Amino acid sequence: MIRRADFHTHTLISDGSLTLPELVQRARALDHRFLAVTDHVGLGDIESTMARLQAASDRCSTPELEVMVGVEITHVAPRHLDEAVRRARRAGARIVLVHGETVAEPVAPGTNRAAVQNPEIDLLAHPGLLERKDAERARAHGIFLELSGRTTHGLANGRVARIAESSGTPTVVNSDAHEPSHLLTQAEAFGVAQASGATRPRARRSVSTYPEALLRRLRQGGR
Ligand SMILES: [Zn+2]
Ligand SMILES: [Zn+2]
Repeated sequence: MIRRADFHTHTLISDGSLTLPELVQRARALDHRFLAVTDHVGLGDIESTMARLQAASDRCSTPELEVMVGVEITHVAPRHLDEAVRRARRAGARIVLVHGETVAEPVAPGTNRAAVQNPEIDLLAHPGLLERKDAERARAHGIFLELSGRTTHGLANGRVARIAESSGTPTVVNSDAHEPSHLLTQAEAFGVAQASGATRPRARRSVSTYPEALLRRLRQGGR
């Protein structure tokens, strides 16, 4: 089986419990080949967070485990989202996530809609009560949708998987790890995809083909 790639994790630079090197070492122990560290940012701390992530990730990548740093834009009003994305890219974010309209938190309505209209965004995290037309826009703009390994955000995985599959929008399984126990092995990630109700081929693609496609694009530095 292909080795694990996780595009959504946190360190104590935002609200995770581990330093970046500790998180990387945990991922290495669970046979990851790729880890994106995507700490939360708002309009007030994009540049300072990226500077800390870049410093902390210096020389963390090895031939067996590639580490990339970026951001999860969190609780930024939909009208300011494009500005936040621009600033994150300028500050060196190699992957840009948006904290979607999870059912577990009161995210501003319209966040999903604003995110899927910006092709500079790589991934909409835990998109909760996703609408079909937003999934279609995500597909048109090359934005991946997330099946979440977290028990809270994962409540809507069934809906996300169903709409994504019927609209042909790629999904990836991420841990959204805030502590080491949240990281997923490849077998556990496949289990999350299967539990979402995805068909078996689709579940397999969510932990292999789609992560591979996203990874290729990230390595090329966007589109
Ligand atoms: Zn989030
Ligand atoms: Zn997160």
